[in-house]
Amino acid sequence: MSFQSYLQTLSREKLKLALYSTTEKDVERALNSPCGDLNSLLALLSPAAEPYIEQMAQRSSQLTRQRFGANIGMYLPLYLSNLCANECDYCGFSMSNRLKRKTLDSVELDAEMKVVKSLGYDSILLVSGEHETKVGIDYFKRVLPQVKKQFSYVAMEVQPLEEQDYRDLAGIGLDAVMIYQETYNPQTYAQHHTRGKKSDYSYRLETPERVAKAGVDKIGLGVLLGLDDWRLDALLLGHHLDYLEKKYWRTRYSVSLPRLRPCTGGITPKVELTDKGLVQLICAFRLFNQQLDISLSTRESPALRDNLFALGITHISAGSSTQPGGYVNPDSQLDQFEISDERTPAQVSDAMRRKGLNPVWKDWEAAWIAQ
Ligand code: SF4
Repeated sequence: MSFQSYLQTLSREKLKLALYSTTEKDVERALNSPCGDLNSLLALLSPAAEPYIEQMAQRSSQLTRQRFGANIGMYLPLYLSNLCANECDYCGFSMSNRLKRKTLDSVELDAEMKVVKSLGYDSILLVSGEHETKVGIDYFKRVLPQVKKQFSYVAMEVQPLEEQDYRDLAGIGLDAVMIYQETYNPQTYAQHHTRGKKSDYSYRLETPERVAKAGVDKIGLGVLLGLDDWRLDALLLGHHLDYLEKKYWRTRYSVSLPRLRPCTGGITPKVELTDKGLVQLICAFRLFNQQLDISLSTRESPALRDNLFALGITHISAGSSTQPGGYVNPDSQLDQFEISDERTPAQVSDAMRRKGLNPVWKDWEAAWIAQ
């Protein structure tokens, strides 16, 4: 059964009712249950779990340290292009936004990588808008070997591709694919994705499965928190993760939990997720899955990030630019969204060390796998 068929067996109304009628007893039961139980995830995401956040945070921190030690992986996004043939009303790169469009050529890419390397990074996330003809598979096939020469771990966050494309890219060094559904509510999805290929909800929904079949090492899932009811979206994200892990157990998984941020021509969140809610969400996912990588971007404020680092996060970025060419020319103003934590990587790693955490710049996993 495909994930889409599985999703159709779930009733959104019933899940919502269950989320909002969960009792404190259900939450207490969930806190004492082993990892991996979707009913427990539901209870931990519910409003009834709010009085238990402190308890959840302690357990989440403990499970994270048991599995990952004090280590937190450092990565940086590198924007290849802001060309985009889609219209997503929350994103500065939407095709109707008037901004200077740019795609890095190999010389510009080298210059960007040099700056990123000089900051100490060895793990990189290649990002682009979604423009099949100008920034499509041929471009990625050209760029990837160039990037792989410089970085041990290379992830991509670009448009959904075909299974064979992912297989080809994995063959030349692609380690991970981040593909976020944004929301699992098809109606809300249609409201926010009005033009271009991204408006195809089903094709996007089936993408992680194509990535897994192609044998890519890691898949990153996520929703854009605020587009719809975040509790229900997070629960369905948990179902997606559970479905993939059971079927493609060799693959590693990560989740990203970005909140809607202002952007050029942006929108306000339909459902606001408070800082407390974000803590609940991170802890609920850790209690659900001890192995899961959870990443945190620079969208959140320095004070909040410093508090979240110890709770369940395993990967963070610091010193990010969200524009193509932005490391060489920081003021070129082509941003995808606003950054909240503007500290340098050195400042962020100092803050982590003060909390007893260890920033890890090199991911040795690839070297071990190759042996
Ligand atoms: S979210 Fe992605 S697909 Fe949508 S406009 Fe932005 S870059 Fe393009």
